[in-house]
Amino acid sequence: MLAQRINDLLPQTQCTKCGYAGCAPYAEAIASGLAPINRCPPGGEQGIAALATLLHTEALLLDETCGQHMPLQVAVIDEQYCIGCTLCIQACPVDAIVGASKLMHTVLTQECTGCDLCVAPCPVDCIEMVAVAPVRAWTRVDAQASRQRFEARNARLARPSQEPPTQETAPDIGNAVAQALAKARARRAASRTS
Ligand code: SF4
Ligand code: SF4
Ligand code: SF4
Repeated sequence: MLAQRINDLLPQTQCTKCGYAGCAPYAEAIASGLAPINRCPPGGEQGIAALATLLHTEALLLDETCGQHMPLQVAVIDEQYCIGCTLCIQACPVDAIVGASKLMHTVLTQECTGCDLCVAPCPVDCIEMVAVAPVRAWTRVDAQASRQRFEARNARLARPSQEPPTQETAPDIGNAVAQALAKARARRAASRTS
């Protein structure tokens, strides 16, 4: 199937920078003629060229309104400010963050795709994207590993045990997070003015 062959060429970071919910939906849009082949910043010029070859079409310049192609970055959590809210874990498409509710979280650097989807949800701005050293590009091997982790996560979330907090527990969690959030914001503000 064409969409699958297109998806096989995409970087599998699931970053959504193409404007679709992940690599597979973007692949389907390309296969249907609904999206051009130049909307994937992680894939960059090489990715566009591979798609152009597969589809016997002209290679286009990357549409930089979607983002710029950059060397691999990974997320780093400033753990002293982490309030353990778990929002980053929920945002990470490849389960590259470990931690538990109200406990410090940390990124498994080897598993991080650099998608940066965990940055915006962090209520205390304690996640930063940093270039890996030595500098390197995202590879096909990385893409295969990322795809496996993404599929494993989806399978885990589809299991019945993965239920959202109940109505009884959700308000307590909300209060705890709100209190921790206020403290973390105050600490962060103090460190910025000192
Ligand atoms: S890696 Fe490319 S195709 Fe996949 S979600 Fe990101 S921008 Fe879209
Ligand atoms: S840790 Fe953040 S940047 Fe890394 S894969 Fe997960 S969501 Fe993306
Ligand atoms: S979103 Fe931020 S504060 Fe919440 S667990 Fe992740 S790193 Fe910690």
